[in-house]
Amino acid sequence: MSKRRFALVGNPNSGKTTLFNALTGSNQFIGNWPGVTVEKKSGHLIGHPEVEILDLPGLYSLAANSLEEIIASKELTENPPDAIINIVDGTNLERNLYMTTQLFDLGIPLILVINMADELRQEGISIDADKLSKRIGYPVVAISALKGENIDKLIGHLLSPEITQNHPAKTDYGADIEAVIAQAFGIIKPSFPESQLRYWSFRSLEPGFKQNLDQVQQLELQRLQEDYESSHEGDDLESSIAGLRYDKIDQLVNGTIHGSRKGELSFSDRVDQIVTNRWLALPIFVLVMVIVYGISITTLGTYLTDWTNEVLFGEIVPGFVSSLLERMSVAEWLQSLILDGIVAGVGAVLGFVPQMLVLFFMLAFLEASGYMARIAFIMDRAFRKWGLSGKSFIPLLVGSGCSVPGIMASRTIEEESDRRMTVILTSFIPCGAKLPVIALFAGAIAGDALWVAPAAYFLGIAAVILSGLILRKTPRFKGDPSPFVMELPPYRLPGLKTILRSTWERGWSFIKKAGTIILLSSIVIWALLRFGVENGSLATVEVLGNSFMARLGSLISWMFRPLGWDSWQAAVATITGLVAKENVVNTFGILFGYAEVSETGTEIWANVAQHFGVLGGFSFLIFNLLCIPCFAAIGAIKREMNNAGWTWFALIYQSVFAYAVSFVFYQIGNWALTQQFSFMTILAILVVLGTIYFLVRPEKQKEVRTPQRNGVRA
Ligand code: GDP
Repeated sequence: MSKRRFALVGNPNSGKTTLFNALTGSNQFIGNWPGVTVEKKSGHLIGHPEVEILDLPGLYSLAANSLEEIIASKELTENPPDAIINIVDGTNLERNLYMTTQLFDLGIPLILVINMADELRQEGISIDADKLSKRIGYPVVAISALKGENIDKLIGHLLSPEITQNHPAKTDYGADIEAVIAQAFGIIKPSFPESQLRYWSFRSLEPGFKQNLDQVQQLELQRLQEDYESSHEGDDLESSIAGLRYDKIDQLVNGTIHGSRKGELSFSDRVDQIVTNRWLALPIFVLVMVIVYGISITTLGTYLTDWTNEVLFGEIVPGFVSSLLERMSVAEWLQSLILDGIVAGVGAVLGFVPQMLVLFFMLAFLEASGYMARIAFIMDRAFRKWGLSGKSFIPLLVGSGCSVPGIMASRTIEEESDRRMTVILTSFIPCGAKLPVIALFAGAIAGDALWVAPAAYFLGIAAVILSGLILRKTPRFKGDPSPFVMELPPYRLPGLKTILRSTWERGWSFIKKAGTIILLSSIVIWALLRFGVENGSLATVEVLGNSFMARLGSLISWMFRPLGWDSWQAAVATITGLVAKENVVNTFGILFGYAEVSETGTEIWANVAQHFGVLGGFSFLIFNLLCIPCFAAIGAIKREMNNAGWTWFALIYQSVFAYAVSFVFYQIGNWALTQQFSFMTILAILVVLGTIYFLVRPEKQKEVRTPQRNGVRA
């Protein structure tokens, strides 16, 4: 058979992933769409390498509101597949068919796959696929992707010669709208391929649509919309079209669904009456979070991380590698590079992998079961006030365990700017590795006071909120976070295979992408600590003070003078903290002459207190809590931003923010304690006033993003 390409299209939660896996098995290729972080998956039909299946992102419509929608529309129009496999959730048929009507406009051959046949059967509902097929003019198959029902029938269609040739019945939305569409058609005709004109005519009537059009065309389209709206008592054209699409869907499915449970509440609706109930929503949410957090961050997760860090990468791997290296009589410096540099550095990062997998598993479960959408819904109101979306909650929560999975959990946020914002802010929340550093300073300069740790979390939360507000005022993030328009998918018990697969895909992509950057940086830091100039010549140094790292520390330490700590030791600890934050404690241990110190560095409390003083110590702690995270988290940021400009923006913002907060803290604290008023005090006051002004100043011109989701009925 000749080569053919299918694009798999469907709403989120329609079972698209399950079907894709069932059709392609392990013949999958995962990459990114060019230039963006959205995953691009494609594969070959099992046993048929000539049949390619491309998995498009899950979407509710083809309007260009989100990155996924833009990608999908671009792919379908610029590189049209031989046919579209449109999967719809049979338990939510009308809603899912909304996008189907848009796919009809494209005029590409299509096969409609009604999924969840097993669930429908359980509810006593049957859908007459043949009748529906006659009405829409495309083949229709009812399947259960999960149970493998009718997959062979679907494959039969995919392999048949007719599939790439079927022609749809033309949709007709009534004289009124068809007249408008005909006019739009005339306006945009020169700018789009002939065969796609119907699709683009509808698209061109979206508010603000500009693609391929010159100014005259845009004005004409705008006039067309205004004329329609004024002659229809202000009804907006977009909503009218959406309404007509739903009417069309009603006509198409009318009489094809039997045994409908009309009037009765579905299982999901009944669950939602409890789960999103005004009084119960929050307690239930807290309970779910306690369970997720309890399992992935504290009990099972901690156990796994401790085991990997202390046993696997603490004893087993180093023991094995060092005996191997000795047997091979490898040079001492190379042994050190491999053991202290590579194994220790990469091990510190891989140590988080098992915990991450546990967490990803829980998240995949929440996502696939439908509860994640409710969490976002419940948190949305509060978070929007701070310039974040309800979906930012999960990454921040996860980030309190480890920023890496936290940053990666931001992937569930559809809206690009909300997601980037979350990626930038997640590492402000103190992660598990920062706790020893907090404990060190609490012990050394605050008499081991109990309030220090909660204060650190409070600082993190305040940093997130303040930064959310600040960033929303910058041109890059202008406008409010997108309003919560995602619909709540039905609850269902997720399949284990789907969850395991998604867990593994996320974990593996971390290992791969973060692995390279961590490996490199571990080697660089190792070399800087080990080599230096001693007795006038280049050597492996005995005293850390002679190492290149110490030089580097002295070279940059002046920068921290305004923050109240400018020793090279403090600068070095800050740098080694980039490999893993808990390294700050070890580094001070070594700098103060101990080969090894306890986790919270009790031995060196007195040295640290003397070295920093109270104000300088807190300032150092604040800076290290807020500044750029460890290399693993930087790797995750890079991976999620998938763009050098954005990655740098994130890192620079975090550094500048941390610097400003420590600066203000130290200078104003110093003024309050010593009554010494200097130029620096004035500067600190200016930073505070400037920030306040930036936040409350009246905006010249409010540019509001208006993400309107077509077809999502309020
Ligand atoms: P996607 O978001 O469209 O990729 O959807 P998934 O493939 O992740 O499926 C969403 C949820 O529906 C998962 O929990 C699946 O296990 C479940 N699911 C998928 N197909 C079926 C099906 O045919 N029957 C039932 N009962 N559940 C299904």
